[in-house]
Amino acid sequence: MKFEDYHIAPEIKRNLEGLGFTKPTDIQYRSIPPILKGEDVLAIAQTGTGKTAAFAIPVVSILHERKMARRIEGIKCLVMVPTRELAIQITSVFEKIARYTSLKVFSVFGGVEQGPQIARLENGIDILIATPGRMFDLVSQGYIRLQRVEILILDEADHMLDLGFIKDIQDLMKFLPRKRQTLFFSATINEKIKKLAYSLVHNAIRIQI
Ligand code: AMP
Repeated sequence: MKFEDYHIAPEIKRNLEGLGFTKPTDIQYRSIPPILKGEDVLAIAQTGTGKTAAFAIPVVSILHERKMARRIEGIKCLVMVPTRELAIQITSVFEKIARYTSLKVFSVFGGVEQGPQIARLENGIDILIATPGRMFDLVSQGYIRLQRVEILILDEADHMLDLGFIKDIQDLMKFLPRKRQTLFFSATINEKIKKLAYSLVHNAIRIQI
């Protein structure tokens, strides 16, 4: 199976070619079809497996097609990550895959001033990558509205739990629509992670690499 055989938008196939991606990795092969179908996914996959593109490719494809069909303002995809480094890294992957589309990708994280992030948020963002603390601050001050979110992604969920972000995540869920697609990625799995996962996903397809 090659990327050219997938039901993804031609613009995105072109971007993948530009990145030198021709064949999906194992996690991509197993995640892309259910995500494109709109299923929830619970995936156990480590860094280095191509996990970022495993969610970024189908999500960019879905949102690109929806945006071409109907233009609705507001954040459509929220990606929650544990650290600022990961936020920057994932943003760069989304930007590369979304090149030649009209999707706007942006990230917010702590440790830097809020002002410039707030200014940029006012320009309309489709895909937002965020760390939980800064995200919660901006949402509770009303700078970020989440009622248009269609896809929620949690990446390195185990790391988020280790860093004590569970309360922020649970508080943020109150701002998100119940009807949405949820993609839960973790490098490891245990009872605590399963509990969080099953409180967020619905009839998820389970994938373990
Ligand atoms: P990740 O597991 O998301 O940190 O990705 C690990 C590395 O694999 C990154 O450097 C990606 O650019 C690369 N990568 C992801 N998917 C593919 C693919 N289908 N073909 C070749 N390289 C890939």
